[in-house]
Amino acid sequence: MSEQSSFTLAWQDYRQRRLWFLRISIGGFLSIWLISALASMISASLAGPVIGTLGTVWMVASNVLGFRLQRFKCPRCKKTFFLGLYSSNPFTGKCLNCGLPKWSEHDDTAANEK
Ligand SMILES: [Zn+2]
Repeated sequence: MSEQSSFTLAWQDYRQRRLWFLRISIGGFLSIWLISALASMISASLAGPVIGTLGTVWMVASNVLGFRLQRFKCPRCKKTFFLGLYSSNPFTGKCLNCGLPKWSEHDDTAANEK
């Protein structure tokens, strides 16, 4: 597998992780809100257990997907992209361990060393 395709695959993996996190965080919240509104229209005693159950599942799923997104590995150094030794930044534009720019399709340092 070439270096460029491994970088491309890594960024595709990141896009999938980010997409699932956003789907569950935002879409899940809106779905729970809608379902609980419908449940409260049907029966007031039904709304509490429905909100509690769905809310718990949503929080666990959001945390798992957020953890998975935060643990995304840099395609160059293979360390966590968004977690440095003493810092974390989910919005960083470069790897907190090696400085690789986000969405970079190749390793510029390897090309400069040749
Ligand atoms: Zn890195």
